Amino acid sequence: MNIIILGPPGAGKGTQSSMITDLFDFVQFSTGDILREAVDAKTSIGLKVKDIIAKGDLVADELILEIISQKIANNKNEKGIIFDGFPRTILQADELLKVLSSYEMKLDLVIELAVDENILLSRIETRAAENSGNTRDDDNKDALKKRLSVYHKQTSPLIDYYKKHSNFFSVDGMMEINKVSENIISILNKRLN
Ligand code: ADP
Repeated sequence: MNIIILGPPGAGKGTQSSMITDLFDFVQFSTGDILREAVDAKTSIGLKVKDIIAKGDLVADELILEIISQKIANNKNEKGIIFDGFPRTILQADELLKVLSSYEMKLDLVIELAVDENILLSRIETRAAENSGNTRDDDNKDALKKRLSVYHKQTSPLIDYYKKHSNFFSVDGMMEINKVSENIISILNKRLN
């Protein structure tokens, strides 16, 4: 069962992806986490993407696709894969379908976390404050504004794309975390039965 969790920065994609991963024994590919690890480890990829991430821009499609293709190749026998933060462009979405089908895998579900964007800024600011000392380079007002505008321009068209081509569900991401989780779990359970 391969699932995409889609939504703007601060929607709770990471939290819900980890919940699904633990509960269903899936694996989770969070491109943001993978990139931040590369930055921390100062690998050649990390050095390349550090400034781009800090500004809130998107990393080049080719680089992301290389990382994801490798990950899929290494995990093709897993029970399920959760894609968190990927795809973020139409090109990434097209390529994902190609890579999956090359391994005779498919995309089973796309779940959008729908949120009121007016409160995202304060959500992220709270997250930054709570994690002080371990703050993300891009959890500041300017970078967040950029990430939201990039989301609108480049990523939100994926909603229509998946509405047409895939099993698409929209979940209200403004509820309590546990409620959001319950709704996601029930979508997955229906699909698994
Ligand atoms: P958020 O959803 O809160 O913006 P992420 O952790 O998913 O955070 O991503 C952080 C940053 O990593 C993005 O702003 C972007 O620079 C980079 N990134 C993550 N995933 C992708 C992707 N699929 N394509 C391009 N850049 C990405």
